[in-house]
Amino acid sequence: MKPTKIIAATAAALLTFSCGNAGRQTKVDAAAQPEGVKTETVDNMKVITIKDNDGDKRMPNKLFYGTEDSAKVERLSPEGSVPSSVCCFIVEAEGKRIMFDTGNGEARGGMMLKRLEELGLTPGDIDYVVITHFHGDHIGGLTRAGKPVFTRAELYVPKQEYDSWLAMSSQNARDAIVTIGKYGDKVHRFAYTDSLPFGIKAMPAPGHTPGHTVYRMGSLFIAGDLMHGVALQTQDPTICPDYDMDRRRAVEMRKKYMEYVKENNLKVVGMHFPF
Ligand SMILES: [Zn+2]
Repeated sequence: MKPTKIIAATAAALLTFSCGNAGRQTKVDAAAQPEGVKTETVDNMKVITIKDNDGDKRMPNKLFYGTEDSAKVERLSPEGSVPSSVCCFIVEAEGKRIMFDTGNGEARGGMMLKRLEELGLTPGDIDYVVITHFHGDHIGGLTRAGKPVFTRAELYVPKQEYDSWLAMSSQNARDAIVTIGKYGDKVHRFAYTDSLPFGIKAMPAPGHTPGHTVYRMGSLFIAGDLMHGVALQTQDPTICPDYDMDRRRAVEMRKKYMEYVKENNLKVVGMHFPF
């Protein structure tokens, strides 16, 4: 193990992905933050990263073998695993709070609620919850003991994702639909042509899941699960984790949005980027 090497590799990979951010006005808040919380300013928005996992999280190289040449994965990731995390994000804009994804949920060890409390916030302070896709580490935090966590929030989910999961027969899929359903008439199943609050731009990124969606707010790009191992996949975006349901499309979308964020000089955050 050579920690300095890991850090250097990660930093290099992040720089590659967010290439062109040098001139952008983003700064990490200097004030002391609770553990697992990070605040930055992007445009006029406050962006709070909440780490849902406890401690450090790494993705093992094996997760990326798939149909790949495993020797290539090992060569690009000599440490045997890549730094990762489970994160969700709160964007504060115009006096409102928008939460992107919700982590695993307390029952599955998610720390999001605890971190919110340490920030001096309650779930009732969240005005909108916006979901990238229906995997458990993204929607698990929506409910606790079968009840909605975010008591005041309007819930925005991609219609394409909702319809796809509704058509799946697995227990997982049925559970996801039930979880979303807990929000009753506060659920907005949006199409990509619909207008979302605060001009949030929703863009299709199918592949990881059928309706996986990425978002843009001004100079901020929310990458969802375009990448699970940034240090590895920025070196070779054709490498997929086993979680990508449709590999061909996942690769296509990864490449497309890597170009998009470079061209538009965006600040990128992702749910599995290293904290
Ligand atoms: Zn995920």
